Amino acid sequence: MKDTFGREIDYMRISITDRCNLRCRYCMPEGIEWIPMKEILTFEEIRVAAEEAAALGICKLKVTGGEPLVRKGCPDLIRMLKEIPGIKEVTLTTNGVLLSEYMPMLKEAGLTAVNVSLDTLDPKRYAEITGKNEMDRVMAGIEAALAYDMPLKLNAVLRSEEDGDWEALSELTNRLPLDVRFIELMPIGMGEKLKPISNEVILEKLLQKYPKLKRDDRKHGNGPAVYYHIPEALGSVGFISAIHGRFCESCNRIRMTSTGDIKGCLCYDEGISIKEALRRGDRRMVRTLLTKAIQNKPQGHCFDQKGSITEHRKMSRIGG
Ligand code: SAM
Ligand code: SF4
Repeated sequence: MKDTFGREIDYMRISITDRCNLRCRYCMPEGIEWIPMKEILTFEEIRVAAEEAAALGICKLKVTGGEPLVRKGCPDLIRMLKEIPGIKEVTLTTNGVLLSEYMPMLKEAGLTAVNVSLDTLDPKRYAEITGKNEMDRVMAGIEAALAYDMPLKLNAVLRSEEDGDWEALSELTNRLPLDVRFIELMPIGMGEKLKPISNEVILEKLLQKYPKLKRDDRKHGNGPAVYYHIPEALGSVGFISAIHGRFCESCNRIRMTSTGDIKGCLCYDEGISIKEALRRGDRRMVRTLLTKAIQNKPQGHCFDQKGSITEHRKMSRIGG
């Protein structure tokens, strides 16, 4: 259905857990308290929410977290969601640590595509960013996804243009059939304390290195990324410029947190809770609340005016 600004809302991100096996410094601090399991929606409740969202025109779902693969039975949920009438795509965003282990089950469950978050190809920097030495397992996950012919995108939040991570990551597209996307750091949660790097700077550097870089206007997914293609490369390089490039006019998404809050925009904490309605088995109310959440979707984010940001939860609780 359309929101009050005429945008077609057809995509819902579903966070299925606040837990994670990494501690990315811009996302999740050490010592964070977990939400009690009884507060977190069951798979059955998530299914009902997704069915009601599908009835309102949502046809694409993204399963996220925390780290979705740490929640037991994640492939079962993917299967349940993929079987919902009207749902065309179910994709997953993961840090990749458990991906090689789960890939056969995810493929079998009907997963449409996977995004792996990886900010560097340097093992030392990886450990600094994520707090763990798990880069080899992430690389094994990437290989497994490719071996299973799973459409794959790597998402990177960059820390500095000087350390060359943009260069090594974009070079991957030369030899592997995957897209690499640079996501500007958002001032949400731990990201509040760090300085974002503008994607414009990265694009300029990429153009200097590859003067024949071409804009790639083919459709790559559901997101607001702008893509470029290095001549002869197997994949493309995308830019998600949340801060320096506004894409709110074409925003097509809502988000559901693991506790059943429906959010219209990352920037604001106003969410509509559907948990009570789900727990009462009141489907009609679930649909009414989802409709309201879509209608109330804010016109745009306010990341450029820090004082207006009302969302103070960690990104790991919202799902990115
Ligand atoms: N654990 C999974 C993962 O890392 O892909 C899924 C959840 S994670 C919260 C989703 C995405 O949000 C990741 O790509 C992560 O890099 C990104 N993210 C977390 N905090 C962010 C921030 N402050 N600004 C921009 N992206 C952020
Ligand atoms: Fe975990 Fe993903 Fe947050 Fe990193 S970005 S701490 S992997 S939820």
